[in-house]
Amino acid sequence: MQIQPKSSNGRGVENSLFFNSLFPSPIAEHFLKTGVTLVNCHAKRNKKNKLVTLYGACCWWCRKNLPKKQLTLDHLIPKSRGGSNSLENLRLSCVECNRARGNSLYPPAHSLGIKEG
Ligand SMILES: [Zn+2]
Repeated sequence: MQIQPKSSNGRGVENSLFFNSLFPSPIAEHFLKTGVTLVNCHAKRNKKNKLVTLYGACCWWCRKNLPKKQLTLDHLIPKSRGGSNSLENLRLSCVECNRARGNSLYPPAHSLGIKEG
């Protein structure tokens, strides 16, 4: 039986983050940027999950039921018009509706055409 010292291979993410804060460098910057990207992706997925919980896995505009991965995050008020990234301004949308809306403040025309009730 051999007992291996734990310290030989114990350096992980925590250590490198600490290292980054101590020594800002291009490499540290890269790690920081990568970290931010990961956080953003995660946040996006979280929002999507929350929206699915709130409204169901369907397009907000045409009410088409779709698998989660085919739904996009659509801004009620487009970001280019000062809309926020908050849940209140986000709805799930299929790719077609999202594309049809573009920067518009209004629902896509085709979704109005087939609106029921
Ligand atoms: Zn749609």
